[in-house]
Amino acid sequence: MGKPEKRIVKEINVDLSKCNGCRACEKACAAFHAKPKYSSFNPARSRIKVVIDERNDQWIPVRAGGYTQAECNGRNRYVIDGKEYSECALCPASCPSRSWFKEPDSGLPLKCDMCEDIPPLEEPMCVQMCGRGCLTYVEREVTVTERQTREAESQMELTTAYESLVKRHGQKKVVDTFSRLSNR
Ligand code: SF4
Ligand code: SF4
Ligand code: SF4
Repeated sequence: MGKPEKRIVKEINVDLSKCNGCRACEKACAAFHAKPKYSSFNPARSRIKVVIDERNDQWIPVRAGGYTQAECNGRNRYVIDGKEYSECALCPASCPSRSWFKEPDSGLPLKCDMCEDIPPLEEPMCVQMCGRGCLTYVEREVTVTERQTREAESQMELTTAYESLVKRHGQKKVVDTFSRLSNR
């Protein structure tokens, strides 16, 4: 086994008690990912979604975590500060059961990229625009083994390969083909 390496993990902490549902984070993310950058506020391009339930005064910012091919069976109900959140409310997946986190032009799944840019931003856009301090940016140093590094790299290659297949053949065709192959 190779020598463990130090890596910086970037995270965004969420303090739900501070969120007032203003959706500034959504707008900031949408503008950052607009083409050209900052040219529009199309919420469909945002990689963060504020789930809003006005009747119960519930607001939950959820960041896009990646693609899932099918609805899961393990849905949970959550109670936070006495408020009950329904099954999918805290789930970050781009999932067939809902319209969230799908790129409006291509239908490609959206995933939070921590606002990677050149030069890097001091803090991600959603954090910068959250005036309530609900979102806070943290960097943590972790130790990873060579195997974990290889797994992360191969996951990244798979994602890139998947995106290029979808661009070429369309999402439906690619998903159908994967389903057929995995049922063999
Ligand atoms: S949105 Fe998430 S929790 Fe809901 S069905 Fe899809 S994967 Fe499961
Ligand atoms: S970190 Fe950047 S990409 Fe991720 S949700 Fe926030 S604004 Fe969007
Ligand atoms: S900007 Fe902050 S307070 Fe406003 S909806 Fe987003 S997380 Fe909540």
